[in-house]
Amino acid sequence: MDESHAPDHQNEGKTMKNLGYYNGVIDQIDAMRIPMNDRSNYFGDGIYEVCLVANGVIFALEDHLNRFYDNLDKVQIHFTYSKQALKALLQDMVERVEGTSLSLYWQVSRGTAKRSHVFPDPSVNANLMIMVDQLNLPRKDMLYKLITLPDIRFLRCDIKSLNLLPNVLASQAAKEAGCDEAVLHRNGIVSECAHSNLFYLKDQVLYTAPLNHLILPGITRARLIACAKRLGIAVVEAPFTLEELKQADEVIVTSTTKQCVRAFELDKEAIALRDPVTFTALQDAFFHEFEEETKQ
Ligand code: PMP
Repeated sequence: MDESHAPDHQNEGKTMKNLGYYNGVIDQIDAMRIPMNDRSNYFGDGIYEVCLVANGVIFALEDHLNRFYDNLDKVQIHFTYSKQALKALLQDMVERVEGTSLSLYWQVSRGTAKRSHVFPDPSVNANLMIMVDQLNLPRKDMLYKLITLPDIRFLRCDIKSLNLLPNVLASQAAKEAGCDEAVLHRNGIVSECAHSNLFYLKDQVLYTAPLNHLILPGITRARLIACAKRLGIAVVEAPFTLEELKQADEVIVTSTTKQCVRAFELDKEAIALRDPVTFTALQDAFFHEFEEETKQ
């Protein structure tokens, strides 16, 4: 695929509830088909991103694009779109969908080729898929219940790869336990959640796991850390234990679609909710930034 794959214009002028794109073909998501031999299909051999869109503005798009291109380099996927060209296409897709808050998902796979573990011939182009859909903005007063689970993922969790089976299993286990997220740990050392990063507050200091191969460098994580620093809240990025989490004053879960959520239960036991002032200051700072950047 190359940059000449501009979308066809069968839906030009219409506002849609959702829209899919695959290598230049564009239609409602349910009507879209992708080839069986797309390597995302049988290997999950690709990289993805999710952004939150409000009032037509793709929040933190530069940050997501930077992580996306870094990830493509990490797994040696050659994608010919420039950052500017991809940005323009994503914006174009968003503009075709009605609604004030949307999710924007995109993925690039290593192309379409007969199933073989090794990379296909370099002449095989990467495949680009995009989905834009309706999404309700998260409520600031949400309260999360958490369960803890062993982190059984591979040792490159810094890569936003399409292979999400352990995350899927952990999310389902959380749901079956009546919880909203699963806190993943390796021998009692907390890494992150099944689809979010994790923070805690203790004595007005904000703690979170360090950036390394064990966690995804969340865009929301980085934004919250920046908000804390602006507010004069000390930030410690260092490994921490489940025990420390249980003793925390506040526990905070962050992700693009849920933004900045407070937790109040861990493995059915009451936790946190002991420093509403610092939590609210942080959350307000995050939402203020979001609202300013997504103003019409
Ligand atoms: N960790 C994992 C495993 C994730 O899947 C996600 C994204 N849902 C996050 C952290 C949060 O990252 P971001 O803030 O960039 O959405």
